[in-house]
Amino acid sequence: MARNATRAASVKKRPAVPRAEPTLPDLSQYGMLAEYNRKRNFGVTPEPAGRPPEAKRGGALAFVVQKHRATALHYDFRLEYAGVMLSWAVPKGPSHDPSVKRLAMVTEPHPLDYNQFEGVIPEGEYGGGTVMIWDHGTWEPEDADVERMIRKNEIKFRLHGKKLRGSWVLVGTGDRRWLLIKHRDEAASTSDVTVDKPLSAVSRRTMAGIARAAGATPRQLAVAAAADPPRDATVSRSTA
Ligand code: MN
Repeated sequence: MARNATRAASVKKRPAVPRAEPTLPDLSQYGMLAEYNRKRNFGVTPEPAGRPPEAKRGGALAFVVQKHRATALHYDFRLEYAGVMLSWAVPKGPSHDPSVKRLAMVTEPHPLDYNQFEGVIPEGEYGGGTVMIWDHGTWEPEDADVERMIRKNEIKFRLHGKKLRGSWVLVGTGDRRWLLIKHRDEAASTSDVTVDKPLSAVSRRTMAGIARAAGATPRQLAVAAAADPPRDATVSRSTA
């Protein structure tokens, strides 16, 4: 409240200056999780609070893709960097088909703890709906200078996940819009991985199964179930 009042007062003093939204947050600053924390009410949502990033203890960088049925279905694509998970929302999900460019909208960096979150965000809360850990593993930058790739709006990397593999690129096209594209390599494929492999990478549950276990409301359960591929497609293909 006080914060909004202060903001309103400062707006009155001088006209708002239009400012370009940075394509990615300023990584040189502390408080990279401030927006994450500001958007959430941790007394209500089961999501983890964002704590200050800890010094990297070495080892591989994590990646996670969380299937999230919020206002609309999307796949949250997250890459560990500088102690946080840089995040993009991919409405149609990743594709192994190199001829497909998937829109990826920048969202606020998330805490590393979020990589373990699978469950239901209560209705009325930010991002309310069911979240599945759809894939996880490690990622490798193709240029050791990640900061430079981010500045160039072209992040090239390899994924070592349970579902997503091989070489990929995220290309910034201005504002918060990026494109997620598969490079041509041995992991390229024209089959739709979101349909072929729809289950949680950690619990093997469907979206409906996650919602049911979390005691979701009947409405949230129905919405989550509609985000699962039709059962026929799932059963016939996931046994392969
Ligand atoms: Mn999301």
